[in-house]
Amino acid sequence: MNQNRIPVAGPSITQREIDYVTDAVTTCWYGEANKYHAKFEQAFAEYIGVRHAVSLPSCTSAIHLSLAALGVGPGDEVIVPDVTWIASAAPISYVGATAVFADIDERSWCLSPQSFETCITKNTKAVIVVDLYGSMPEMARIREIAARHGIAVVEDAAEAFGSQIGDRMAGSFGDTGVFSFHGSKTMTTGEGGMLVTDRDDLFERACFLRDHGRVPGDVNFFNHEVAFKYKMSSMQAALGLAQVERAEELVGRKREIFSWYEASLAALPGVSLNATLPGTTNSYWMSTIVLDSSIGLDKVEFGRALAARGVDTRPFFHPLSSIPAYQHDAEAAKARTRNVASYQLSPCGVNLPCGLSLTREQADFVCDQVRAVLAECGISAAVSEAA
Ligand SMILES: *Cc1c(COP(=O)(O)O)cnc(C)c1O
Repeated sequence: MNQNRIPVAGPSITQREIDYVTDAVTTCWYGEANKYHAKFEQAFAEYIGVRHAVSLPSCTSAIHLSLAALGVGPGDEVIVPDVTWIASAAPISYVGATAVFADIDERSWCLSPQSFETCITKNTKAVIVVDLYGSMPEMARIREIAARHGIAVVEDAAEAFGSQIGDRMAGSFGDTGVFSFHGSKTMTTGEGGMLVTDRDDLFERACFLRDHGRVPGDVNFFNHEVAFKYKMSSMQAALGLAQVERAEELVGRKREIFSWYEASLAALPGVSLNATLPGTTNSYWMSTIVLDSSIGLDKVEFGRALAARGVDTRPFFHPLSSIPAYQHDAEAAKARTRNVASYQLSPCGVNLPCGLSLTREQADFVCDQVRAVLAECGISAAVSEAA
């Protein structure tokens, strides 16, 4: 293991974060325990442009809570894009519903509206739309299709903090929107998540379900339903407040990192970087490179070659229908033949280092290593330098 390998992700922590967390751990107990939650939730809701935000221990719990609050359960089907992190889909199983894996659109890397519509049956109760690597799908079409069929929309914006369609923020397009503050994400609380919504009924139901089925403010241990315990600590909320106050800076940094890669790599033949539809402003959580299959280098070989040169990467998400977790799943079997774009795009992509502390020099080094690996495959760097 090369100790100096450039890491694929990582946060930006300043004195502000340290001060808020220190204050939280020192003072936020007993009656003061929720001081930072309230501030964090309000600042986050304001940034996203929604009425309600509920801070949670993870994005996975935010998706679980969304489905539970929407009343999704056994016998229901929930549509999810095939190419995403398993956290987008796993909560469908938690509530006893069936995951249906729709194809992605190669122009956005996100849910294909056409495939979404094809997957709808009389049992479809919800769709989980995923903003992959900061990109966003054709949201207007997806919302129109969902509305026409009476299907609820959960927007998984875990990877799209700061992305926009027009001037509307990612996470604000569904009945609920969900975010992750895992250490690898654009803004972090170490571990953590957020559920946002404009719907009062879903907000109230989520607040009730996340605290063991008691009414907010209850001090009499009087539980009305068997539910869940999904909360973050005040130390995490304090960290989150500091991070969301720096949202423009953090997102700006991600965009800058992508611009370095774009300037250096986009013109290489057979190479494409993050797909973004016109009208979408991508926040580039992960700068991602996809090689044309004609180059003959899959993501595992590509990642291994870059690792040998001191560059840490991650493979493009595998289609969920292809991984062992869904090996014996009947819906996954259908998806394997249906989802052509998912199976075309996923095998040859890797995420490049884009931690928030990445320097221009490190990005240049990464680009040099990418060129060197491609040169070994007969793809000439000279082409892009001339371009
Ligand atoms: C990171 C991520 C999640 C899960 O977030 P956790 O906070 O780890 O639960 C969910 N969906 C997507 C698309 C993610 O990238």
